[in-house]
Formats: sequence, structure tokens, C-alpha cells
Amino acid sequence: MTESALTGGCLCGGVRFELDEPPVFASYCHCTRCQRRSGTAASPQARIAPGSLRITAGEELVRSYQPPDGFAKEFCSVCGSSLWSRDEQGVIKGVRMGVFDGDPGVRPSHRQYVAYATPWEPLPDDGLPRYPEARPQTYEQR
Ligand SMILES: [Zn+2]
Ligand SMILES: [Zn+2]
Repeated sequence: MTESALTGGCLCGGVRFELDEPPVFASYCHCTRCQRRSGTAASPQARIAPGSLRITAGEELVRSYQPPDGFAKEFCSVCGSSLWSRDEQGVIKGVRMGVFDGDPGVRPSHRQYVAYATPWEPLPDDGLPRYPEARPQTYEQR
């Protein structure tokens, strides 16, 4: 039984990817790194199963920014789209939800790093659990 793969890509279309498995969960990150790299108040991102993402086009366009600690942030070098984070072992972890073509199925289930939420966009009253810093089990979500 095969299901159609979940696909996605960057703004210019140079980088394309496919997921073999549905994402595991999703969350919003309000940390200042996510604000900077996305230009937004919070970044919705989907945690994927290790090894479930395959880059189908434009792998050579993907660049990586490695902060002093935490995961590398990968993006398209042509259009600047934020794509995903990658851990120290080279495993892709959190895919930025805006790069999926269709509905990834998961919905953000919590908000983390809300201690750093922007003053210009109040946290929405959506009932999602909030964590001032990382949610302990998902520390590596950054
Ligand atoms: Zn691009
Ligand atoms: Zn973040």
C-alpha cells in the first residue's frame, strides 16, 4: 500500500524534497534565532522521522548556517528559503512547515521559547501549551 509522498521545496523551486513518512509532530518556536532566520515572530516546524526526508533536486543549492551551539540551519542559497535544521550527526530534524507543498498532516501542538516572544505580536490565545524555554523532551528541536 503506497501513499503519495509529501513533497516540498523552496521559493525558487531549485530545492525539492520528499518525505517517505508523515511528520511526527509540529510546534511553534519563538526563539530569537527562528525570528532572525525567518523574519517572523515564530516558526512553525515539523519534526520528522530520522532519514525520512530525501532531497530530490537542488542538493547543491542547500547551504548551512551553524550557530555556536545547537542545530545547523539549512536554506536555499538562491532564494534564501529556510528549509530545515540538521543535527550534529547530519540528520535532518525540523522541517519548516511553510516549505511543504500540501498538508503535512500534523498541527503545531505546543509553543516553545515563549520567553523570547516578540513585543509586536502577542502570543495567540490558542490554548496550546507554552514553554518559556525549550520543551524538555524536544530540546533539540531548535
Ligand atoms: Zn530556492
Ligand atoms: Zn527556534
